[in-house]
Amino acid sequence: MHLTFTRSPLDHAGIRRTDPGFIDACLGHPQARAVLLAGGDVVLSPEGEPQILHPAQAAEFPLQPPGPVFLGLQDETPWFAASVEPGATPPGLDFRRATMVAEPDIAAILGRARAILSWHGRRRHCSNCGAENAPAEGGTKLVCPACGTEHFPRTDPSVIMLPFSGERCVMGRQPAWPPGLFATLAGFMEPGETIEEACAREVAEETGLKVISSRYIASQPWPFPSTLMIGLLAEIEPGEPVAADDIEEARWFTRDEVRELYEGPMMRWGPPHYSISRLLIETWLKGG
Ligand SMILES: [Zn+2]
Repeated sequence: MHLTFTRSPLDHAGIRRTDPGFIDACLGHPQARAVLLAGGDVVLSPEGEPQILHPAQAAEFPLQPPGPVFLGLQDETPWFAASVEPGATPPGLDFRRATMVAEPDIAAILGRARAILSWHGRRRHCSNCGAENAPAEGGTKLVCPACGTEHFPRTDPSVIMLPFSGERCVMGRQPAWPPGLFATLAGFMEPGETIEEACAREVAEETGLKVISSRYIASQPWPFPSTLMIGLLAEIEPGEPVAADDIEEARWFTRDEVRELYEGPMMRWGPPHYSISRLLIETWLKGG
């Protein structure tokens, strides 16, 4: 399964982008492309596709600072992204809906765009001294002109796991979810934890159950706004789950019950390629 937001076609050009001349050449490249976001949603073309323009055309819109941000190179084609000022375009298409149906390459580019642009929206000022930050390296970092602190786009690691024991697994549901829907457990990692420790802590917090061992399966960038989902299968000790934290109900499921859920409420929720939760469930169903 090709998970949405993974396998980006972009080379981030981490060394070359340190040269301002390189960024200028990319901005002037005749084939350069820019995607536009509005309030975190996707600005569409008249044809209803994500709007893709030359950066010079994008710059004709009123843009939020720092203007077009360099995303990387697809082969030698430079890609940029920018946020338009509120009201400058008709409202964009909800980011989730847009990226559920976008071509995988475009969805991955939009995912990187959203994570970086939302960071720019929240990091206008230096967190060390409060002065206004200045973009560097095409906007892939910010530097404080007053104190010299460098700021980099953040990625927040989060563990997401399917706990299981023998032929059964445990899933939980959050109050906001559609009726009947249960899914994997998840939570942000905390400082000082390994991935395995975060997994054990989250399972204990949300169900009261004890993890024996966990195994990494895959990861997925999740640009809401800048999470990295780290997916695991977690073998747990048998016991009765007690829902707590942000989970209102947690219970055991047999493989048949999981298949029923997978083909019913989960399919209505979104396509299987959209969330690593489904990849974990599929992996477990296949005996992985
Ligand atoms: Zn500063």
